[in-house]
Amino acid sequence: MGERVYNFYPGPATLPLEVLEEASQSFLDFNQKGMSLLEMSHRGKDYEAIQIETESLMKELLDMPANYRVLFMGGGASLQFALLPLNFLKPGVEADYIVTGSFAKKAYEEASKVGKVNIAASTKGSNFDRLPTMDEIKLSDSPAYVHLTSNNTIYGTQWPVLPSFGGVPLVADMSSDIMSRRFDVSQFSLIYAGAQKNLGPAGVTVVVINPDFLEKANTDLPAILQYKTFVENDSLYNTPPAYAVYMVNLVLKWIKKNGGVAAMEQRNQEKAKYIYDVIDEYPDFYKGHAKKDYRSLMNVTFRLPSEELEASFVAEGSKNGLVGLKGHRSVGGIRASIYNAMPVEGCKALAEFMKEFVKKNG
Ligand code: PMP
Repeated sequence: MGERVYNFYPGPATLPLEVLEEASQSFLDFNQKGMSLLEMSHRGKDYEAIQIETESLMKELLDMPANYRVLFMGGGASLQFALLPLNFLKPGVEADYIVTGSFAKKAYEEASKVGKVNIAASTKGSNFDRLPTMDEIKLSDSPAYVHLTSNNTIYGTQWPVLPSFGGVPLVADMSSDIMSRRFDVSQFSLIYAGAQKNLGPAGVTVVVINPDFLEKANTDLPAILQYKTFVENDSLYNTPPAYAVYMVNLVLKWIKKNGGVAAMEQRNQEKAKYIYDVIDEYPDFYKGHAKKDYRSLMNVTFRLPSEELEASFVAEGSKNGLVGLKGHRSVGGIRASIYNAMPVEGCKALAEFMKEFVKKNG
């Protein structure tokens, strides 16, 4: 194997090496059954045990209310953009969306094809460099739910404190920061997260749902589109992305072994600080995209003085084992995605590289 690089790609993203090693050891022969887990029935005891344990690890690590359910679905977080309104946006009611980035906008656009939606707040005016204040959020009279995106992967902003709106059901897309910091799950009626950033590989989306919210869901949809089907069949109505769920299981065990979500949070703060400190030290060279109060601990976005310098930063970084630093076209510049599995050393190495780069080019 070549030397392992520091992988700053936004997702699919770096996974803990220990997890990859464990998966590779069990790859050909799972539980000494003479076959790979990839070849096993999703209705067999081996897979059943994995799924039950994965749900219970999710509940434990996020300190969920006992009655909440964890579902394992396919279709990516993008499928959730459609399923949410199909299930909960009935004729005669509205849903409110807080639009803080590209994925939040997509969620809103998908819902607008299903029913009546209201933009409760948007920070598009400043190219999504911040999140709205509570005063800026205007909810409709009696929304079916409010939808927000906890971390905006492309723009590199994150809610410093997740808002709540009393009795209004709150739904969050936590694809790019679930398990990275503590939060109160009981404030949310539904949470979804594509696994490929903080939870595991692409292919599975984890959904957390309050069964009381589910009571309000449409029941006249095709079965595969109803959350109820997944709840009632323990995510085994059809074949789940079984191997991806297994990988999530290993990642959750890794999180637990490393001190749980509180420890991840502390480490993520330390990691992000290395990089933001360099941005702040050289304000004439590095321009952070996110306003300081809304800086993401997961995706650090910044520009350099010219596109040429940005291109050479990405290329030189890559030569130095720091890969995947090119920003998304809607922000340009650089994006360093530093999810849970990015080691502290990776962030330190990037910070050092940034300092060297200014010295040579500043
Ligand atoms: N929401 C957020 C916050 C994301 O970062 C992404 C993917 N980068 C998505 C939704 C879309 O996820 P998927 O590709 O799994 O549909």
